[in-house]
Amino acid sequence: MSVVFEIASLQEIDDQLATLQAGIASIQDRLARSEQLDNARRQLQHVEERIAQHERTQRRLDGEIADLTARIEPEEKRLFSGSVTSSKELMSIQQEVDSLKKKRSQLEDELLEIMDRLEKLESRRTAAQEAVQEAEQAREAAHRELRTELRRYEDSLAAARERRAEQASQVQPRPLQIYEDLRKRKGGAAVARLQGQACGACRVAIPDALRKQVLLRDAVAQCPNCEKILAPG
Ligand SMILES: [Zn+2]
Repeated sequence: MSVVFEIASLQEIDDQLATLQAGIASIQDRLARSEQLDNARRQLQHVEERIAQHERTQRRLDGEIADLTARIEPEEKRLFSGSVTSSKELMSIQQEVDSLKKKRSQLEDELLEIMDRLEKLESRRTAAQEAVQEAEQAREAAHRELRTELRRYEDSLAAARERRAEQASQVQPRPLQIYEDLRKRKGGAAVARLQGQACGACRVAIPDALRKQVLLRDAVAQCPNCEKILAPG
């Protein structure tokens, strides 16, 4: 078979390889992405942080309320024990008790508010946990499909590489070297088909003598403009 034909076949296989490699890169990119799951996890984390914050406040209020109760109780005992007889002192104790109770009542209101918010946050946490679970399942299903697709691509790639090696062995070293150099410099496309009297890659008219050489397929002929190896259209 002619050298030009062999090189054109090699270019076809290399094009297939490039397509397969791009396909594999795209699948790997999709496998690496997990926006839905990341968002769901972030949402859950946010809710959990707020719950922890509210629980801290709840504990603080519980402690403060207990402290106030511990102060109120002995004062009330003194008030009703009969041990204090001075009406001025009794009034002062009563005022102190009233003031502490008022403070405690405010804290209890705050505590109720916090508990109410916690309850709402806990149901938001349940929803967020479910969303994470759903996203994990969706990702798992998508990944199963993608991994199957990836295996198919990798099998095709391995087969194409074998064909490539075999085809490259059909080409003489010198033309092969020209082809490989061009492929590196021309973004993978080293072969241009003749289109009428022009180079199919750069559209420049090819001189008759060169065109005949291409059509007779007896040697490697390169486009005088873009340097690509010319092959019959
Ligand atoms: Zn050209």
